Amino acid sequence: MELQHIQQAVKRIFRELPSGIELVAAAKTRTAAEVKAAIEAGVKILGYNYIQETQKIQKELGNMDVKWHFIGHLQRNKVKIAVNLFEMIETVDSFELASIINQECQKINKTMPVLIEVNSGREPNKAGVFPEAVVNLARKIITLSNIKLEGLMTMGPFLDDPEQIRPFFRETRLLFDQLSQLKIPGIEMKYLSMGMSDSYRIAIEEGANIVRIGTKLFGERRL
Ligand SMILES: *Cc1c(COP(=O)(O)O)cnc(C)c1O
Repeated sequence: MELQHIQQAVKRIFRELPSGIELVAAAKTRTAAEVKAAIEAGVKILGYNYIQETQKIQKELGNMDVKWHFIGHLQRNKVKIAVNLFEMIETVDSFELASIINQECQKINKTMPVLIEVNSGREPNKAGVFPEAVVNLARKIITLSNIKLEGLMTMGPFLDDPEQIRPFFRETRLLFDQLSQLKIPGIEMKYLSMGMSDSYRIAIEEGANIVRIGTKLFGERRL
């Protein structure tokens, strides 16, 4: 999309988002010029799904005032690189992955904020922990010194009508509240990341405070 259109789209979204809601610009497949235009229009957080693409774009962009969230499926053998590239990993879905992140963070003396990814649709072949397993995973994660659990993330199932995703957002929100109320020492439930281009309004109604938006900022993906 033309850079000017991207900037208009970014500004439109910022005008629309209620205060307290953070925008993650989901930037997979976009050029450095497109991403730079979005940052110049006000984007403060970029979401990336792939390590190699992140390295490439970070190199091309150089030093810019922006934070990086990992929102894809993190392979074990990429964790070592990932902990250097990102300010938050939104997609922790096993204790094993959390442990590897913790180990790599210890080596570089860093504490990584993470979200647990919830498989709110309970879809067998999808990433994320089933809702009923989240509290248990949270209790295990807090034993890790170099990880800070800060909330939950969910994708929800892909459905034609975005309204049909509402119950999955709602269940994730209830889980978020439940975890907050448990007041587990070491957990600070700050972020609930849910909603994409076609569902962010519903997600916000259901309590999201991070929305991850790609298409609506950058246009349809060419791929
Ligand atoms: C691509 C992506 C988004 C944004 O999707 P759009 O429909 O383009 O807004 C959000 N979250 C994740 C995890 C993604 O991979």
